[in-house]
Parts: sequence; C-alpha cells; structure tokens
Amino acid sequence: ATPMAVAVASGRGAARGILIKNGAVLERLSEISHFVFDKTGTLTEGRPALVGWSRPGGDWCSDVARLTESERVVLARCGALERLSEHPVALAICDFCTCAEIDCSGARVENVEVAPGMGIRGRVEGESLVIGNREWLVRNGVSIAAVSEPDSEIDGLVHCALDGREVLRLRIRDRLRADARALIGEMRDKGLETILLTGDRREVAERVAAQLGGMIAVSEVLPGDKDAVVADLQRQGHAVAMIGDGVNDAPALVRADVGIAMGSGTDVSIASADIVLMSSELDRVVEAVELSRRTLRTIR
Ligand code: ADP
Ligand code: MG
Repeated sequence: ATPMAVAVASGRGAARGILIKNGAVLERLSEISHFVFDKTGTLTEGRPALVGWSRPGGDWCSDVARLTESERVVLARCGALERLSEHPVALAICDFCTCAEIDCSGARVENVEVAPGMGIRGRVEGESLVIGNREWLVRNGVSIAAVSEPDSEIDGLVHCALDGREVLRLRIRDRLRADARALIGEMRDKGLETILLTGDRREVAERVAAQLGGMIAVSEVLPGDKDAVVADLQRQGHAVAMIGDGVNDAPALVRADVGIAMGSGTDVSIASADIVLMSSELDRVVEAVELSRRTLRTIR
C-alpha cells in the first residue's frame, strides 16, 4: 500500500479503537483466511466466578448457606493457596471465599508450585493440596471419579485434592462477550474460518464453539503449545491471524501472520501484537479486516 493509504487507514482505525502498529500488517490482514481466537479473556470476559461446588459424585450446590463446615475448611485451604496465584480461576476462588466469609489468611503455606494451564499445588497447614484441571490432578496421582453435568454447561471445572484424594469440585463460570456470537456469524458470512483455541477441556470448548455458531474447537492445548497450533495451520498453507489477551498467547501472536491483542489484555500480549483493539470490543476484528481490504482496493 502507498504510505498515504496506510496513513489514512491507520488514522481511521485509531478513531475506531483499532491500533495498527505498522503499515505492512494491513496488507497481510486482507489476505487472512483463518482467525484463531483464544477463549478465556478474548471470547469470554475473562473474569470468571465460582458458581457451584460438589463432593466427587455428589450433587451440585450453589447456596452459600448450605456449605458444610468441612467444605468451608477445604475452601479456606484452597483460598490460602490460590492467593499466591494471579490466574483468573484463582481470583474467582479467593473472591468466593471473601463473599462466603471464609478466612484464608493465617494458614501456613509451603512448597508452592504453579503449573501454567493446569493448576497449582502446595502444602497448606501440613497437608498436600492440589487444585486444577483433571490432567493436573492425574499427574499428581489423584484419581477422578466420573463427572455429571448437563450437556449445555460451558462452565469450567476445577478439582481439589487433599493428601492425594479428591475432596471438592468447583464450577467456574465465565461469560461469553456480548458481541462474540455476532462477530463469529459475520466472519462466517464473509467466508472466513474461525477457530477457538483453549487449554480448557474438550466438552467445554465444543459447547462454546457450537454456541458461537460453528467455530472449530482446538482444546486442551497447553500454554506453551498455542503457537504450534498456529504454525500447523501455516504449514497447511493458510494465512493465520491470532486474537488473544494472555501472557501465554504472546508466542502465538508473534507466530501468526497477524497478531491481534485485546486492549484489556496483558502487557506482553499487547507488545507481541501487530494490532491492538483498544476497547476490547470483538466486532473491531471484522472492522479491521474491512479496513485492510478497503485500503488494498484503493491502491490496486
Ligand atoms: P485458557 O486456555 O482457557 O485461557 P489456562 O490455559 O490458563 O486457560 O488454564 C487452563 C485450565 O487450567 C483452567 O481452566 C483451570 O482448570 C486450570 N488452572 C490453571 N491455573 C489454575 C489455578 N491457579 N487454579 C486452579 N486451576 C487452574
Ligand atoms: Mg486468554
């Protein structure tokens, strides 16, 4: 594109909260066929809440008044450990403890280990505590009995084990962004492929993908493997854009032909992207595509 056309497009983008870091990216964006979206914090608001709990194999409960004393003890230990993590799931657990007036301070916490994309573990009051997804518990030698949930559920599930035994399951709910469904529909109408990429389990990823109207779900991807998914698509000959917000999205944002970060995202994701959506409104993705196509048309 001519410098003039790029300058005009950049200005138009900026006015709409689409920050384009360099002109070359406009040209590439007009040719992208595959758009890979991170789930948590990108398609969802990224501020999940703890909305229910159950004993392994037991019924789900969401009434704070019905928390048993032993459940409160488990949650206090979980809160004491998760206070040391900044993961959204950890924040949800700590917020819940605050609301339920469960005191997490003062517990002795040692040997803390964080496993990105899986969970956390440590010793709390001398007992070993493991919190995280199924894979993380299995890796720690905890066996998990079958989980019963309604088929429509898109909640995340977190398991807690004390001294090697699963004792509590937590249901973590994150809301889809209000404009996510419309965006995916619009992109589909334009003939663009949309892919949902997440570390979350398959059931959840597929339900979210279906709710958003026919995205392809790539699930249970470890944080360090996200860029490999982008590279795979590129190897198949596709031009790929990645849209993400997290620290673990940064390598994929760099790898993609066009990296797009949410303005609400982490500093490292913003630094790694070619385009930043300042308002974090998802419909700006399709606007950016239109802007790039218009810019390219003017010069051809
Ligand atoms: P996503 O790919 O959806 O953005 P992550 O890759 O960060 O999410 O984490 C994947 C899963 O690992 C979470 O859904 C959660 O089950 C588990 N997990 C990660 N960190 C923690 C933590 N600190 N406490 C509990 N569970 C965690
Ligand atoms: Mg994310």
